[in-house]
Amino acid sequence: MATQVHHRACHLCEAICGLVIETDGTEVLSIKGDKNDPLSRGHICPKAVALQDIHQDPDRLRQPMKKIPKTDGSFRHEPISWDEALDTAASALADSVERYGVDSIGVYLGNPSIHNYGMMTHQGALFKLLRTKNRFSATSVDQLPHHLTSMWLFGHKLMFPIPDIDRSDYFLMLGGNPVASNGSIWTVPDIKQRIKDLKARGGKLVVLDPRRTETAEMASEHHFIKPGTDALFILAVMNVIFQDGLADLDHLAPFTDGVEIVAEAVRAFTPELAAQHTGISAATITRIAHDFAKAEKSICYGRMGVSVQRYGALNQWAIQIINIITGNIDRVGGSMFTLPAVDQVRNTGPGGFARHHSRKRGLPEFDRELPSAALAEE
Ligand code: SF4
Repeated sequence: MATQVHHRACHLCEAICGLVIETDGTEVLSIKGDKNDPLSRGHICPKAVALQDIHQDPDRLRQPMKKIPKTDGSFRHEPISWDEALDTAASALADSVERYGVDSIGVYLGNPSIHNYGMMTHQGALFKLLRTKNRFSATSVDQLPHHLTSMWLFGHKLMFPIPDIDRSDYFLMLGGNPVASNGSIWTVPDIKQRIKDLKARGGKLVVLDPRRTETAEMASEHHFIKPGTDALFILAVMNVIFQDGLADLDHLAPFTDGVEIVAEAVRAFTPELAAQHTGISAATITRIAHDFAKAEKSICYGRMGVSVQRYGALNQWAIQIINIITGNIDRVGGSMFTLPAVDQVRNTGPGGFARHHSRKRGLPEFDRELPSAALAEE
């Protein structure tokens, strides 16, 4: 059989690197990075090369299996057709709803479902049919503060400003490690080269992290910060920007309100106060605030380290406020809203918070989901 060439995207992480896959019949001959992919530019990591091993693994499940009890109490697995598998699942769901109501069904979505086009576009229809309030996902142990902030600040849970690193001058990063993650809520393949390019054109990457991460190793500056104190640092940066007259909303001014309320709210959060708790000196905090505000195109970005902690929502809110008060939202070289091929901002509702609560602990929902921490008890 003749060799065939397929152009695909790797869906194993958010970087969605372009791949060129050569096959001969069902056999994979090679998997390489696609040099013509405008985003990943030929980048590939060992995980994508190993897709071949998954594809050809003799132990891989290739059809549904039914678990059948044996007389000695153990189980065996028997292959069944897709029709039988789907009918079995559907009738068990219907039976549970009939006997105990819609909330007897629990749904959990793992991270890979977000990297799956079909799930992304059609999960809403499935949930509408199931009608259960018991929906859970990895969101509540990951990026929920981003969704809350986006809903409250920009009007939709999926309005994520994405760092435009390729055109930026100054990048302030807290609790993120894109060299390992490939840019969580960012999508940035080949990040190492992008950081090198930023520095080569005179730009700066400033990383705050309690750990000397792989990204911190490549940064222009790395400041160790005491875990869980990021909010004080960010609020102090904001304080300096307001107090030293560096706030400039620029193109955002005509439609942004409430800035004076924020300025008043952060008045007490001085660099001196932050220095006592963060381990970063007041002089350094003040200098970072000035450097950030005076650079032509700046980005403030924070990820897991500042999301999954006590002040996660406050951190993500404050990070975007810094971007807003320096006019760096939706500006080239700042943090920009995207133009996706399938726009989930148009296709989904804006989100909502605390419209119902979990039964046992009264924890609030977000976007019809309850915290995963409540899954077992619910
Ligand atoms: S970085 Fe690796 S795992 Fe992630 S999309 Fe690219 S090739 Fe796939």
